[in-house]
Amino acid sequence: MNKIHITRCEEYDYAMVEKAVAECFDAVPEVKAKLFKGAKVLVKTNLLMRKSPEEAVTTHPVVIEAIVRYLQALDCQPIIGDSPGGPFNEWNLKGVYKAAGMTAVAEKTGCGLNYDTSVVEVHNEKAKLLKTMQIIKIVQDVDFVISAAKLKTHGMMTYTGAVKNLFGVIPGIIKADYHLKMNNTENFAEHLVDICEYVNPIFSIIDAVDGMEGDGPSSGIKRHVGLLMASTNPHALDVAASKVAGINHALIPTLVAAENRGLTSSDHAKLEISGVGFDQIEVEPFKLPTSINVNFVGGRVPKFMEKFVINNFRSQPVFNHEKCIGCEDCKRSCPPDIIKMENGRPVPDLNKCIRCFCCHELCPVKAVDIKKHWLHEKLFGQ
Ligand code: SF4
Ligand code: SF4
Repeated sequence: MNKIHITRCEEYDYAMVEKAVAECFDAVPEVKAKLFKGAKVLVKTNLLMRKSPEEAVTTHPVVIEAIVRYLQALDCQPIIGDSPGGPFNEWNLKGVYKAAGMTAVAEKTGCGLNYDTSVVEVHNEKAKLLKTMQIIKIVQDVDFVISAAKLKTHGMMTYTGAVKNLFGVIPGIIKADYHLKMNNTENFAEHLVDICEYVNPIFSIIDAVDGMEGDGPSSGIKRHVGLLMASTNPHALDVAASKVAGINHALIPTLVAAENRGLTSSDHAKLEISGVGFDQIEVEPFKLPTSINVNFVGGRVPKFMEKFVINNFRSQPVFNHEKCIGCEDCKRSCPPDIIKMENGRPVPDLNKCIRCFCCHELCPVKAVDIKKHWLHEKLFGQ
């Protein structure tokens, strides 16, 4: 249940990545055994937005190509897919696939790119929160899903890897509805674990050749790590990947939620690592997102003050009107719809802001910063 394979992969050189990906699959023979001839496999790639592979926002196309070719060699039928930020339509998908290098992967390998934008309502028996949810139909049409994630920090959830990647099965702007329904980190984390329970990926691979630190998942700094990591247990894989990134497990609400449900353990000694061990990996801890301290005041202020501190001293999005190009992506993706455009520039009603930082995440020109409340520095010293 907690088996993880970690392998070195220093560059996005195809031969190197192909070897590393094959090593990841071969380390877990039960996955290969389940992948029957002709099986349709959705390679759920992190395709957050129109970004080039070099920006380290999306899963690198060389990693996806290696996964696709491995599956094709087993006579499976892989299809690359995601519901990126913004509307879930063919035009948006086309742009994202092209920018992220997926169109080229499809051309080289002959594998499919998902353009079916149908949405289905599914019952999620194991869910703690939403027993009924809407997902992209391709998830139902395939036999298996592989979560092909990217190692990054995340403004709202601290970290994104194998589990958070699966939020991309929620179609386009429905994501905003679910953000609004689960409008604090704990509830949103439970929702992400619910989604993962439903999708139940057969295998998860994290592209940690280059990751992202700081204000991820899109505005952070590219960080070279030089690893690929994989597991059949996405939660355990996230425990391992966050350890590599030097991020405290307690700061990652999805891991706290998963551990509370008995889906993994934060005890690194309980992970069965093959390949490269933690003691052989030297990675400087990732810089955390600016928003981080807000959501995790527990233990740092007296209990009776926690709610007050969270409600009053939270970080907030700040819109840089000089950089802004007026595309309105932030307005469209704001779950509570509290951004108004004035003279072609966004103006949020921060009293109603749920601090999901979707505006920060999806702004194509990094015109949304996260500003810490001045008292943070005083209270937490960072
Ligand atoms: S802040 Fe960014 S996302 Fe919002 S309108 Fe300006 S450029 Fe577009
Ligand atoms: S303004 Fe930004 S952070 Fe606030 S609710 Fe809207 S999208 Fe989320």
